[in-house]
Amino acid sequence: MDTSFFVAWMEEIATAVQAQRDHLTQLDAAIGDADHGSNLDRGFGEVRRALTDSPPRTPGGTLVLAGSTLIRKVGGASGPLYGTAFRQMGKSMGETRDISLAELSAALDAALAGVQKLGAAVEGDKTMVDALAPAVRALAQAVREGAKPEDALSAVAAAAQEGAKATIPLQARKGRASYLGSRSAGHEDPGAASTALILSALRTAGFRTW
Ligand code: ADP
Ligand code: MG
Repeated sequence: MDTSFFVAWMEEIATAVQAQRDHLTQLDAAIGDADHGSNLDRGFGEVRRALTDSPPRTPGGTLVLAGSTLIRKVGGASGPLYGTAFRQMGKSMGETRDISLAELSAALDAALAGVQKLGAAVEGDKTMVDALAPAVRALAQAVREGAKPEDALSAVAAAAQEGAKATIPLQARKGRASYLGSRSAGHEDPGAASTALILSALRTAGFRTW
């Protein structure tokens, strides 16, 4: 997976987030402050612009630029968390120009570690970690089994989507939704839903560039 694959990933995210902006905002209206869709739509629009203005030369450079842009342009909890996730992924890739599935797996591990270091959420707290952590495990398993890239990315998307849906009955223990206590149960976590979108876009980027 080369630089153009990771640029395509960012473009697919921007398109998906724009299409789902109102849905993400509705999820956040139920248990937060109704800004998640607009936060991410603005943020990934800025990422798209930044990548056009200063085209990166490496996969790592692409993700570090995306992450730094999100940190600069998106407020709230999700900007710094997603910004850190992409920056850590990018750093883990170093200067490598063609990222293997195993290297992508290591990079997603680094993303999860970054999110958990910053936000201190564990699985079951009803956050983006509930979608990201199972996706990280699914990719590690696919690598161990020698899966084809398209199958591995499909497994990542499925695990993230399942993880997001599984937040519905949970009570939030981190972030704004935790202020609602037991009233946060019964709604899908917006950040878990956007993580599922972001990770599903990896597979779409694969279809586009392979
Ligand atoms: P804000 O809550 O500041 O309005 P957003 O609405 O953009 O920010 O993002 C909310 C999402 O951020 C939540 O749905 C949750 O998934 C995620 N989130 C909040 N706090 C944390 C945390 N400590 N760790 C991981 N994710 C978190
Ligand atoms: Mg919000």
